[in-house]
Amino acid sequence: TNHSLQQDSEIFDLIQKETIRQSDGLEMIASENYTSKAVMQAQGSVLTNKYAEGYPNKRYYGGCHYVDGIETLAIERVKKLFNVSFANVQPHSGSQANMAVYLAAVKAGETILGMDLSHGGHLTHGSPVNFSGLLFKAASYKLDEATGLINYDTIRKTALEVKPRLIIAGYSAYPRFLDFAKFREIANEVGADLLVDMAHFAGLVATGHHESPVPYADYITSTTHKTLRGPRGGLILTNSEEKAKAMNSRIFPGIQGGPLEHVIAGKAVAFGEALQPEFKTYIEQVVRNAKALAEELKSLGFALVTGGTDNHLMLIDLSQSSESFATLTGKVAEAVLDEAGITVNKNTVPNEKRSPFVTSGIRIGTPALTTRGMKEPEMKKIAAWISQVLKNSDNTEIKNKVKGEVKELCQSFPIY
Ligand code: PLP
Repeated sequence: TNHSLQQDSEIFDLIQKETIRQSDGLEMIASENYTSKAVMQAQGSVLTNKYAEGYPNKRYYGGCHYVDGIETLAIERVKKLFNVSFANVQPHSGSQANMAVYLAAVKAGETILGMDLSHGGHLTHGSPVNFSGLLFKAASYKLDEATGLINYDTIRKTALEVKPRLIIAGYSAYPRFLDFAKFREIANEVGADLLVDMAHFAGLVATGHHESPVPYADYITSTTHKTLRGPRGGLILTNSEEKAKAMNSRIFPGIQGGPLEHVIAGKAVAFGEALQPEFKTYIEQVVRNAKALAEELKSLGFALVTGGTDNHLMLIDLSQSSESFATLTGKVAEAVLDEAGITVNKNTVPNEKRSPFVTSGIRIGTPALTTRGMKEPEMKKIAAWISQVLKNSDNTEIKNKVKGEVKELCQSFPIY
C-alpha cells in the first residue's frame, strides 16, 4: 500500500505529459473544464476503498457511517443549488443518469423523443447505436435548417405522430437557450413525461444564467464535470417523491452496484463551490467570453450556427464561412488547430453534407479558459489565432509560431 505513483513510471510519465498538455494548450472543448484541487483531493482519497451499496442510512454494507455523511452532504448541497426536493448523486456518468430515468419512465419498446444526434442531441437521446435506441423506439426532432434553431412546432407535430412516453430536452451542441415551458406544453398535450438533460448548461442554471428546468421537468439529469466544474459523473433531480423512488431504484439496484463515494465526495465539494458567489462571477464570465469570442470570430469571416450564442458554446459552420475557410472540413480544422495548441472538436452542422467523422463544423466553448482566468481581451487574441491557423492550414511555420504564442499566453494563466 505504500507503493507510490512515481514507481509506476509508465503511468506517471503519461500523467506528467497530460498535465503539461492541459497547461500549455487552449482547452476549448465545450464539455470540458478544470476542477479545483479540492475536488481532486476528494477523488484521490481513501473513499475509493469503500463499498456502500444502497443509499445513506440504508446500506448493504457495514462501516458506512462516514460515507453516509458525505453522500448526504452531496445530496443536500445539490438540492440547495438547484432548489429541488430530491436528488440522486450516484450515477457514474451522464449516460447512466439518463439510462436510469428511461428505465423509470419508459417500458422497453415504448417511444422516446429527443434531439437528433447530428443536430446537437446526445448519443443517449435515442441514437440507434446506444442503449437508448436499442431498448426503446427512438424518434427524433431536428433543428430548423434555415435558422439552426429548435422549432417547437416541429417537435409538437412529431410528438403528436409518435406519441412518446418521454420527451427529452437537452443537447451537446446547441448555442441557444431552451424554452422549457414549450417543452412542458407539448409533453402535457401528448401525455409524456419531460426529461431535461442539462449536462451542458447545469452551471448556467445554478447561477441563473439559464432558466431553471425545475418548475417544468419530471426528471432532470446532468453530468457534473462540464459547466458545473466537478468530477466526472452524473446526477438526477426531481420534485416528485414518486419519481424520486423510481429513479433511485433504477440507479441501484437497477443499473449500478457500489456507488463511487470518492467521486461523490468530489461532487459534494464542487456543489459547495458552486454555491459560493465566486461561481456566479465565473459563469457570468463564461457567458461574456462566449459572446466576445463569437463576435470576434464573425468579424473574421466565420459563420456561426444561429448567428451567435446565448450560452457557453458556439458552432462554426465552415461551409458557410468566408472563402478562406469554406472548403475546410471539421476534421481538418480540428487537426490543424490541435497542431497549434488549440483543442476543439469537429461537429456536424444543421444541413450537414458530410459524414459525422468528417463534418463541416467545429464546436467551441469557453468554460475551461474562463476557469484559467481568461477574459474578453484573450478571446480576441484566440479568435485571431484560430483564423490565422485555419487560413494557413498547410503552413507548419505559422502553426508553430501560433503554438508558441498560445503557450506563452497559457503560462500567464496557470491552472493550478
Ligand atoms: N447528456 C449530454 C447532453 C451530454 O452532452 C453528455 C456528455 O457528453 C452526456 C449526457 C453523457 O455524459 P457522460 O459522458 O458522463 O456519460
